[in-house]
Amino acid sequence: MSDDCIFCSIVAGDIPARTVHETDDVLAFLDANPLARGHTLVIPKSHARHLGDLDDDLASDLFAAVTELTPHIQSTVGADGANVGINDGAAAGQEVPHVHVHVIPRFDGDGGAPLHAVGGERPDLTDDELDAVAKAIGE
Ligand code: 5GP
Ligand code: ZN
Repeated sequence: MSDDCIFCSIVAGDIPARTVHETDDVLAFLDANPLARGHTLVIPKSHARHLGDLDDDLASDLFAAVTELTPHIQSTVGADGANVGINDGAAAGQEVPHVHVHVIPRFDGDGGAPLHAVGGERPDLTDDELDAVAKAIGE
């Protein structure tokens, strides 16, 4: 638990939240400023800032909850789809420094955008540069 973390305070019960799912290690609750009806945040109960800080078991439990909840949330609110994503790090827009997966229900014609819209200016990469990036990531 991190003392000045809002989501740790929610886990501890010090800040109220609209909980929709809970296991020993994972909590899911409605986003306080929803982008859509049913916008849900799924978090590990233990404090970690970045996705890469999670150990394998916790990452697995977190993703299992997201996998279970996403279709359930969609059908509950009558959505046509969902965007599922993580803002990992301040540069990516992470405001709360505790890993959280956004499950955002989407509706036909809702005026929103796909995840592709989160990127900045697209880099103009040559085939050689793409090959180098793939090789470096794969090492
Ligand atoms: P981030 O930009 O860090 O990915 O998103 C943080 C999200 O947490 C935002 O969508 C924001 O609305 C939500 N949020 C911030 N504070 C609270 C809170 O106290 N309770 C709940 N339920 N959601 C919060
Ligand atoms: Zn925390």
